[in-house]
Amino acid sequence: MKQPYLLASLLLVSTAAPAQQSITTLPSPVVADPRVAALRDDALANDHYAWDIVEGLTTEVGQRLAATDAEARARDWAVHRLTAMGFANVHVEPFTMPVWTRGPEGAEIVAPFPQKLAVAALGYSGSTGPQGITGQIVYFPSVDALRAAPDSAVRGKIVFIDHNMMPAQDGSGYGQFGAPRRQGPTIASLKGAIGIVIRSIGTDHHRNPHTGVQYFTDGAAPIPAGALSIPDAEQLVRILKRGQPVTMHLTLVSEKHDGGQSGNVIAEVPGRDPKAPILLVGGHLDSWDLGTGAIDDGTGIAITTAAAKHIMDAGRPLRTIRIVWFGAEEPGGLGGKAYAAVHGKDPHAIAGESDFGADRVWRFSSQLMKSDPSAYAQLAASLAPLGITKNDKGEADGTDVEPTIALGAPWASLNQDGTRYFDWHHTPDDTLDKIDPVQLRQNVAAWTAMLAVLSGGIESGAKQPKRR
Ligand SMILES: [Zn+2]
Repeated sequence: MKQPYLLASLLLVSTAAPAQQSITTLPSPVVADPRVAALRDDALANDHYAWDIVEGLTTEVGQRLAATDAEARARDWAVHRLTAMGFANVHVEPFTMPVWTRGPEGAEIVAPFPQKLAVAALGYSGSTGPQGITGQIVYFPSVDALRAAPDSAVRGKIVFIDHNMMPAQDGSGYGQFGAPRRQGPTIASLKGAIGIVIRSIGTDHHRNPHTGVQYFTDGAAPIPAGALSIPDAEQLVRILKRGQPVTMHLTLVSEKHDGGQSGNVIAEVPGRDPKAPILLVGGHLDSWDLGTGAIDDGTGIAITTAAAKHIMDAGRPLRTIRIVWFGAEEPGGLGGKAYAAVHGKDPHAIAGESDFGADRVWRFSSQLMKSDPSAYAQLAASLAPLGITKNDKGEADGTDVEPTIALGAPWASLNQDGTRYFDWHHTPDDTLDKIDPVQLRQNVAAWTAMLAVLSGGIESGAKQPKRR
């Protein structure tokens, strides 16, 4: 039976409090729409779309460094997969950008205790050339300590910045402790350092360096900039504590050139009302080059795409759902900026992305709390059975959607548990085996519930054939 419905008109929101409650203190009860709950529970029990996407992408493409041939192969893969899944308007929106690629690299203590250390260049690091550089290590416990140091303490030396990042469910250490990576190389260069190594921005104890982007700003000349694995950084600290001058030989070969091409891959579930503001969801297709980009961010595109597919399988939403697999997030959110430049003024009902691994969603927040409290209440009720709490003080996040949000799109954030995320982030260990399929399905269920609540209603008569 073809029976269109609008969720908003059918919300089971009671405006009258039951008689036995204290009328002044208890809020009106909100119960999740049963059709939303059914879609959510089906995704939680049965989703395979997300696993199929991330397994396929990481196996058949592997690492997808921005603006390289690998990222181009990933776009081809994406167009093929999204088309095969039955999405509409599948296309690539290209943009150009500088390409940075990694060459041979290594770090070695020359004196006083000769030994090799595990190192990886940071994005847009200067190159040492194949012969490498040799210099004395100068230690700083934080990026601010480097900033406060006189130039004379740094000039001609290799800077080493330490820190003490700890795991946290909300990943909050990344902001503060990421500063040595983001700002350290520029400050070191401006003070005359010949190179810099940092303790990897991570929370593991494996000999895997964590790469990540940094930019030389304020006229700083590019110098070689690398991250030591955390055990190697701790080893270097112990060596320095012996009190003798420490000399390092550092080889970080890389290449950078202009005119590389990246692009955003876009697909849609067309809504019944083409004029209704759209639901924008996605993640980023590019990855760093050390692992296969499974949790950063193969799962993000897989989760959001699977959720959109569950809505499409159920029928036609009122609103168009637009899925974007953003290009070149890792070098600085270039895909998100390119999207906003073309589509930022399109009417968006919501913008949200998944880019924090594959562990379960534990909390959500949204601007809808203020702009559409009844939708926000429905979201809360629909997500609560998944163990997801609402965070009334939350903020927008997501590098890819931030430029669109800055132009006025309302935001929604489904926060994943980040306790394990920085053990693997930007390392060779970002691989498929780190994904827990049960938690992955919980993510898909959460995004499916959100899309269903905000869809404007799904016309169930317009079912489309299930396609993988
Ligand atoms: Zn990411």
